[in-house]
Amino acid sequence: MLQKTSPYMRQANLIDGQWVQADSGATIDVINPATGLKLGIVPKSGRAETRRAIEAADAAFQTWKKTSVLERHKLLRKLHDAIMDNQQTLAELLTMEQGKSLTEAKGEIAISAAYVLWFAEEGRRAYGDVVPSPWADRRILVTKEPTGVVAAITPWNFPSSMLSRKIGPALAAGCTVVVKPASQTPYSGLAWGALAEEAGFPKGVVNVVTGAAGEIGDELCTNPLVKKITFTGSTEVGKVLIQKSASTVKKVSMELGGNAPFLVFDDADIDRAVEGAMVAKYRNSGQTCVCTNRFFVQAGIYDEFVAKLAEASQKLKIGSGLDDGTQQGPLIDEKAVEKVEELVEDARAKGGKVVTGGKRHALGGSFYEPTVIADATTTMRFMKEEIFGPVAPVFKFTTEEEAVKLANDTEYGLACYFYTADLGRAFRVMEGLKYGMVGVNEGLITTVEAPFGGVKESGLGREGGHQGIEDYLDTKYVCIGGLGA
Ligand code: ADP
Repeated sequence: MLQKTSPYMRQANLIDGQWVQADSGATIDVINPATGLKLGIVPKSGRAETRRAIEAADAAFQTWKKTSVLERHKLLRKLHDAIMDNQQTLAELLTMEQGKSLTEAKGEIAISAAYVLWFAEEGRRAYGDVVPSPWADRRILVTKEPTGVVAAITPWNFPSSMLSRKIGPALAAGCTVVVKPASQTPYSGLAWGALAEEAGFPKGVVNVVTGAAGEIGDELCTNPLVKKITFTGSTEVGKVLIQKSASTVKKVSMELGGNAPFLVFDDADIDRAVEGAMVAKYRNSGQTCVCTNRFFVQAGIYDEFVAKLAEASQKLKIGSGLDDGTQQGPLIDEKAVEKVEELVEDARAKGGKVVTGGKRHALGGSFYEPTVIADATTTMRFMKEEIFGPVAPVFKFTTEEEAVKLANDTEYGLACYFYTADLGRAFRVMEGLKYGMVGVNEGLITTVEAPFGGVKESGLGREGGHQGIEDYLDTKYVCIGGLGA
């Protein structure tokens, strides 16, 4: 099995342009999930290092906010090019710490670069308004200003691209950042620091701190110099961060959990639906917040859909992400496998039929077989809980109303998908689904041009699209009087 080294594998924090260790010298081991072997270490930092990073970001903000929009645009373009020039190296590093296939990792690096470019452009279009004035002698201007120091906390499932949707708009808007990547996958986060240096961003504009999540999070949420918290991760942690940020009334953006339904109606193109189901279920081994958690299939095509989905699932090539042809890598760690095992056992005990998979993969470690479970019922735990693994529970429904009701029966509201050939039904169902994102006859819908985000307990704010920069800008109303009649 390949184990490569990378010039972007930085085993230190980036604070105020210096690569430094934790004050205590403590470190955290980073494990390659495909081999179970140690890949390297990163600093186990706490409040003091985080405070210094925030102070550096605040000092840098005083000059960075005054740079011209064109200057920022040029640097972001350089950052984009630095990412794409090193796509292969960055993807290998991502695969080694995260486990996903190299093909998916290269895709993630490409979309990271694409977000940077998108926001480089959007920064130039962060328009204000000149509003028709109700007074003859006054004018009304509405301008947009950078919010200030931004704290970004990100998860392990997309360790590069989750940061691109935060760092990209923040820098384009004129903000500076303190980043805290997930401890399982810190290198793709630290790589952003190295890439920003390479592109020529001034010191302190991008700072990256690894370590104890609670301590770093507490400092980021309570330090008054931080003006905005942007987080991607679990709803549970998101709620804690919102509460903690309340003490200093920070702006918050939250990309939280999902419980995506995937509806297939009798009139759908079944092969297309199976193709969409494969990507919506198994991308990143099922470890995405927009991965299908529940399949709802109409009675008339239920058996055929289950059989075809099981057949396609069996064909997936499982292995180390760095090996040629691998389509599905390991889960992130042992805990993730145990959670999947629990959910599958729960389903079995409640009458679920395991059509394929249902156990750990022969490769051992944290590899798990792609699994399809038929006869799923609403009492099973995955009706409410995120699976975050390669398990596809398939429920049967009879009517359209019933399907929409089941799909909405969750506190989450991130992504959903449905397949139908009936235009009237497409509009009815699309309007009936209480979700932030809807794929109609499509199973993979993320793109930089569109606003990614959820409703209900799936989050606040949007990333991507023209909306994605708004959270990093403050609106200022200016009334200019005494202009004469
Ligand atoms: P996941 O279940 O995907 O690991 P988490 O919400 O637990 O999602 O973690 C997402 C990110 O939030 C990670 O960077 C993690 O270290 C961080 N995190 C976890 N707990 C806290 C906390 N109490 N304060 C701040 N950050 C946290």
